[in-house]
Amino acid sequence: MSVNQQAHPGPPYGQPQPGYQGFQQPAYGGQSLPGAPQSQYGAYNGPVPGYQQPVPPQGSLRAPPTSGAPPPASGASHPSGHVAYSQFEHGDVQNGIPASAAPMQRPPASQPFLPGSAPTPVSQISTFQQYGPPPGSVQQLRNHMAGMTIGSTAASAPPPAGLGYASVPPVSGSVSATGSGLYTPYSASQGPPPPSVSQALPVAQPPFPGQTIPTQRLPAQVPGFTPPPPSAGVGPSSYPPTTGAPRPPAMPGPPLPGQTLAGPPSSQPNHVSSPPPPSTMAGLHPGPPMSGLHGPPPPTHPPQPGYQMQQNGSFGQMRGPQPNYGGAYPGAPNYGSPPGPPPPPKRLDPDSIPSPIQVIEDDRNNRGSEPFVTGVRGQVPPLVTTNFLVKDQGNASPRYIRCTSYNIPCTSDMAKQSQVPLAAVIKPLATLPPEETLPYLVDHGESGPVRCNRCKAYMCPFMQFIEGGRRFQCCFCSCVTEVPPHYFQHLDHTGKRVDFYDRPELSLGSYEFLATVDYCKNNKFPSPPAFIFMIDVSYNAVKSGLVRLICEELKSLLDYLPREGNMEESAIRVGFVTYNKVLHFYNVKSSLAQPQMMVVSDVADMFVPLLDGFLVNVNESRTVISSLLDQIPEMFADTRETETVFAPVIQAGLEALKAAECAGKLFIFHTSLPIAEAPGKLKNRDDRKLINTDKEKTLFQPQTSFYNNLAKDCVAQGCCVDLFLFPNQYLDVATLGVVPYQTGGSIYKYAYFQLETDQYRFLNDLRRDVQKEVGFDAVMRVRTSTGIRATDFFGAFYMSNTTDVEMAGLDCDKTITVEFKHDDKLSEDSGALLQCALLYTSCAGQRRLRIHNLSLNCCTQLADLYRNCETDTLINYLAKYAYRGVLSSPVKTVRDALINQCAQILACYRKNCASPSSAGQLILPECMKLLPVYLNCVLKSDVLQPGPEVTTDDRAYIRQLVTSMDVAETNVFFYPRLLPLTKADVDSDSLPAAIRNSEERLSKGDIYLLENGLNIFVWVGVNVQQSLIQNLFGVSSFSQISNALSTLPVLENPFSKKVRSVVDMLQGQRSRYMKLIIVKQEDKLEMLFKHFLVEDKSLSGGASYVDFLCHMHKEIRQLLS
Ligand SMILES: [Zn+2]
Repeated sequence: MSVNQQAHPGPPYGQPQPGYQGFQQPAYGGQSLPGAPQSQYGAYNGPVPGYQQPVPPQGSLRAPPTSGAPPPASGASHPSGHVAYSQFEHGDVQNGIPASAAPMQRPPASQPFLPGSAPTPVSQISTFQQYGPPPGSVQQLRNHMAGMTIGSTAASAPPPAGLGYASVPPVSGSVSATGSGLYTPYSASQGPPPPSVSQALPVAQPPFPGQTIPTQRLPAQVPGFTPPPPSAGVGPSSYPPTTGAPRPPAMPGPPLPGQTLAGPPSSQPNHVSSPPPPSTMAGLHPGPPMSGLHGPPPPTHPPQPGYQMQQNGSFGQMRGPQPNYGGAYPGAPNYGSPPGPPPPPKRLDPDSIPSPIQVIEDDRNNRGSEPFVTGVRGQVPPLVTTNFLVKDQGNASPRYIRCTSYNIPCTSDMAKQSQVPLAAVIKPLATLPPEETLPYLVDHGESGPVRCNRCKAYMCPFMQFIEGGRRFQCCFCSCVTEVPPHYFQHLDHTGKRVDFYDRPELSLGSYEFLATVDYCKNNKFPSPPAFIFMIDVSYNAVKSGLVRLICEELKSLLDYLPREGNMEESAIRVGFVTYNKVLHFYNVKSSLAQPQMMVVSDVADMFVPLLDGFLVNVNESRTVISSLLDQIPEMFADTRETETVFAPVIQAGLEALKAAECAGKLFIFHTSLPIAEAPGKLKNRDDRKLINTDKEKTLFQPQTSFYNNLAKDCVAQGCCVDLFLFPNQYLDVATLGVVPYQTGGSIYKYAYFQLETDQYRFLNDLRRDVQKEVGFDAVMRVRTSTGIRATDFFGAFYMSNTTDVEMAGLDCDKTITVEFKHDDKLSEDSGALLQCALLYTSCAGQRRLRIHNLSLNCCTQLADLYRNCETDTLINYLAKYAYRGVLSSPVKTVRDALINQCAQILACYRKNCASPSSAGQLILPECMKLLPVYLNCVLKSDVLQPGPEVTTDDRAYIRQLVTSMDVAETNVFFYPRLLPLTKADVDSDSLPAAIRNSEERLSKGDIYLLENGLNIFVWVGVNVQQSLIQNLFGVSSFSQISNALSTLPVLENPFSKKVRSVVDMLQGQRSRYMKLIIVKQEDKLEMLFKHFLVEDKSLSGGASYVDFLCHMHKEIRQLLS
């Protein structure tokens, strides 16, 4: 806790040196940062042992005890660090630093850090505004676009003619209402038209150099109609019923007349560039807005030259006043759906509005092949849906930090004007793919990490060494600090320390420091943590087979506790408790022949009846533990006890950790509302009638503050709680979840748990949860350079002050979202810097600091802000913001606020960044063109707009879950991935191309998979070929498919193998094992499935994408008028 600033002999004064690789840091104002004084982290000086590589987390290295577990977190599969070392080996040799200068433990390899070969920020900094190559040549673009179109054609074959799932007969006369004129006539010589409507759009590329200009339109407003070719098996009935439009033809090889094909969207890899939807009509035919709707289409082709230049935006047309739109939201009948009379032909063609699938695919194509090198300030990373490798060259990987914008406004006025939230989504212990290097562990010896004297920021690549290397100026607060003698190093002619490439903290964005005793609680190095397993043995838990299942599993799982580095065995000790209305503690000391049980029935004042023998080493006590786990199911086999306690269980675990003076994790397996007489006793207060009232918020709030206080005590001890729930009825997740939530723990919920169908999923979750990398007793602080500061935090943690995020435990899946606000002006020259420092105890009890640094650009032009935003991250922030809002405000207020904020964001863009155009056009920034569709998904999510099937507990559960999600998880959670399995190439490893989440995209003859991170649905159309059904389900007909299946049968044929491998691949990508649900078309489970077709109008009243876009447009126009 002490801050020990030793004075050092003042070295000869040298010349000020240039800063880090072009990150010039003009002197900051020198203000001290708010919250600068900090007692938590000490700093003093000592010998320099150099750095050593952190040992990769070992727990997940080993395979799960039984087969079938999801693959361990990928980063964990490093074979003990050899790979990781490679980065520094050559650097040492090349640099030829005298060994005396800094005696270091050198890791063996290091291409990336060859001074000569490593791309340096200097060379890149000048290009920081430009993230991609300039637009390619016309020919290149043509090829590219043609390729994409063809690709998507191949990826999803046309549905059988006439089998469109939506079953909407082609509407007669609908032709006149469609925008077919947009599509270039399809020439048969150019291959079949793409079957997937959403992917067929890249037709007419507007001729704006360097711009992507997707457009929206009202189909009916498009005058030119060219009938599509009848070929290619595209049945009209498979078209969206709302348009009745023929499927757009493919991008023809040659450019369209008048098309110059300049400015391929694909040439701007930082943008979510999709081949623009049909270049439309907005600027082209600013004719009478609605008149074209019903009348015969004007005969002309869209004249391309009529376009107006747009700045960095999409444009499209929503013509005229559009009186119908207002009323259309959200409950307009007919929209987006199905049978019945032809809907009024007035809405947007779903194919002409921005498609998530297209954006995702374009980003994959444009950015998936090159590694993302982090040496450049303010660089927008590829989307989370793109597979890419990261090379750390001075900024933290996007796997650790993603931002809503990589170019932030210089002033708070500008930020307010845009309404774009400035936030970073941070996953400090994120798992890395095996190809990437884990953060190195740097040991600065007894003095601990080198830090700024004033703001306590840690040594990082942006610190500027001056005076010949004897002092450094802080990049966060400008304070000048002496370099400790042991850390001194000469500077080269560019002002860079000559050991630059040998020190992770000088050249990398992410690394770890070994913490000294000053960083430890009570100035004492921590003991290794403990895991305590606490099993509900009340009637339901025993009867369902759960107790036996858990005990059986633990017998093997305990061999797979997280280990550190090359340690032979885990340092984690374990303990066991069972409970119903009373608690049973077990003495499993190795010297005992049999375990001993001690019952505590006075739950009002919980204590731990034994100290010695409660927490033990697994190997030492193996026999006793096995015996205990064999006996528990027998001991309670005949229990009649139905009531449970809950708070005393947590208290017991907490007390045990306190007595052992260590941090740890409680794994609680619990089945019911704790109604037994005890502290924290709860009553059933579920009341669905509160939905849509001002009291709805109480459903999300805990019913007593008891658990908040308990959580606080847990955090102080480093006692993290993971809760596995098996409810058969309401058990008040909102209250039971308080402690897990505030201690950084996780909640898993298995409603109506049935051994046969749910055990596989539960065991997979349990295995992963027990084995995954986790830090204990964690404190995170985010420092920022002068001008902005962290003001708000979202996630599973506790805060006792305004700056420190405290987590009893933090695992590799947990994310903290941090919002920033201006407190001064920023400068374009210096940009803005973030440093996230996480102090934690490793699974072996080592105290460490993990540091992530990120540099962002700053702008004086709004256009630069809008060019560098990331919508997925924005949605992550907005969802968390809204999900917290429901605790204190009526849900409707929260929804309205979200809509309003997004409308303001888009209106500001329209007003300040887009070229003047008619008010009928909806203009979206390229980087935010998916904001409306994703926002709509958030608005109609179960928390903000529950359907009748969603329980109060579900909502509380989802609310807490989302709060810790990273960007990839929120992305797929809100906009699920829908894959046509019947289009999968059984000979390749790839996934079939995803399609948009709408019923209209489904064909009765196909089988689809939909995943959202929690569930996997396999939807089977009624007309699926019998052979496919046989191959996948092993039954001979559709009617024989059982939707009670929780896994797909293992059958020896290519289709079965392919589908199972797709399922396994998806399971491996998610932090939780997804529940597999088989849905037969027209079966009653289909309603559940349709809930996830998020582009459609939902049963709970959520708007369709098309309707919502119209609504947003109306909102934007109101703001602009
Ligand atoms: Zn400082």
